[in-house]
Amino acid sequence: MEEFAVVIIGAGPAGGQCARQLAQQGVRVLLVEQHSNFSQNNYSSAASPLETMALFDLPPGVVARYWRNLAIAATEKEQIWYSDQPRGVVFDFAKLRQFLADTVTKAGGQVWLGHRFWGYQQVGDGLEVTLRRSSKNSLSSDSVEKVEKVTVKTQVLIDATGSKRAVINCGQPKATDNNQYYRGIGTEYLITVDETTHQRFADTLVFFLGYRWSPQGYSWIFPMDNHQLKVGTAIFAGQHRYLGELKPLRSYTEAIIRDYLKLEKSQYHLEEIHGSVLDYAVNQGDTYHRGSVLAIGDAVSTVNFLGGEGIRHGMQGANIAVPFVADYLRGHVQAFEKYEQAMKAHFAEPWQRTEKLSQRVYLEFGDRQIDLGVTYLSYLRYDDVLDLLFHYRFDRIYGGITPLLLKKVAQFSQQCRQWLRKLSP
Ligand SMILES: Cc1cc2nc3c(=O)[nH]c(=O)nc-3n(C[C@H](O)[C@H](O)[C@H](O)COP(=O)(O)OP(=O)(O)OC[C@H]3O[C@@H](n4cnc5c(N)ncnc54)[C@H](O)[C@@H]3O)c2cc1C
Repeated sequence: MEEFAVVIIGAGPAGGQCARQLAQQGVRVLLVEQHSNFSQNNYSSAASPLETMALFDLPPGVVARYWRNLAIAATEKEQIWYSDQPRGVVFDFAKLRQFLADTVTKAGGQVWLGHRFWGYQQVGDGLEVTLRRSSKNSLSSDSVEKVEKVTVKTQVLIDATGSKRAVINCGQPKATDNNQYYRGIGTEYLITVDETTHQRFADTLVFFLGYRWSPQGYSWIFPMDNHQLKVGTAIFAGQHRYLGELKPLRSYTEAIIRDYLKLEKSQYHLEEIHGSVLDYAVNQGDTYHRGSVLAIGDAVSTVNFLGGEGIRHGMQGANIAVPFVADYLRGHVQAFEKYEQAMKAHFAEPWQRTEKLSQRVYLEFGDRQIDLGVTYLSYLRYDDVLDLLFHYRFDRIYGGITPLLLKKVAQFSQQCRQWLRKLSP
């Protein structure tokens, strides 16, 4: 039986980053992924602010497109902020995860694709982890799928299976059965469009809010390379204060392609449809550790529910976990309480504020309120909007008050002048 110091289940951004850091520190690490390559499960829209590149030392090769501008379209109001400099990236999600896995191998770690986590048990002072490897025998005429059981031994087991929480909840009652989770459901179309349409959106992230485009959630158009665009919709599960039953998710995405991009079905090529479900624990209510098992990334709700951004935060959470894992392996600590505290110190405050705001915007606001919100945002400087959306700096919202008041004063004085002109003989 092969032995490792750390086994990480799930080669998403969090698992990949964690394995990369540990392997680079010389830890004997195994990264396990159920899919046999990274083009499977290529579900994320993968937009991020520019700082993510430097923060995690990522190469330009993982970027599908740099974005400069940001637009928000609501039912009646649309606002766009322009920049002549790149403000962020849209990752090629498959290439990002492949890059992380490759750095693990280069640093001496192992990556096993096509292996599914099945269970674990404590044996002596370590854990035995059971995986299922499935392989198709291409030489046999019926190409029967063969499933083999593989067991490895480890000191630390890390759950990086995202919202599935397959490891930390293994053998436990299903955590999402209680109401302590918010659920987001997202689907996305990857489409190839003509040169002119691509040029119009090549540098811009477009978000849609409001009942016309995306009731009870938000939609988006993100640029990719090769004349491709990602067009998707996410809804916030639950009963909206004003809305009744929603249409199937796809119909909102198709309406954006038809009515916003102005493309009929014959005018674009649908490359694939992908999507996923995100379960987010309210108030950081996840299980972070159980003995020598700990969870990172979306398995502990590092995704921010306001805009569904989770890549950067999952990788940041992995960076937080790594020193605690290293200390555990050196025998300096026997448990992972301090890891949980460090995660909460980093995430709790902004996450609790954004989860409340998400609940209000997606489940309680009327359409007029959303339009008014976008109108107000139009008074903010671009940097403040980015700070608000990507750094959850809600104090930035006050930056719009002065320009809004100045505009109102200007309008009022113009009305007074017109009124006085009418009065004058
Ligand atoms: C439609 C949609 C759009 C999104 N858009 C963005 C965006 O624009 N920007 C952004 O930053 N974030 C976005 N997100 C969120 C972001 O993709 C996630 O928050 C992020 O990928 C979480 O990383 P992770 O590593 O924790 O989990 P994941 O990326 O979910 O990775 C978990 C991995 O574990 C593997 N796995 C699961 N179970 C097992 C098992 N039993 N055995 C072995 N392997 C297993 C999975 O196959 C997967 O590869 C989006 C999410 C959705 C659903």
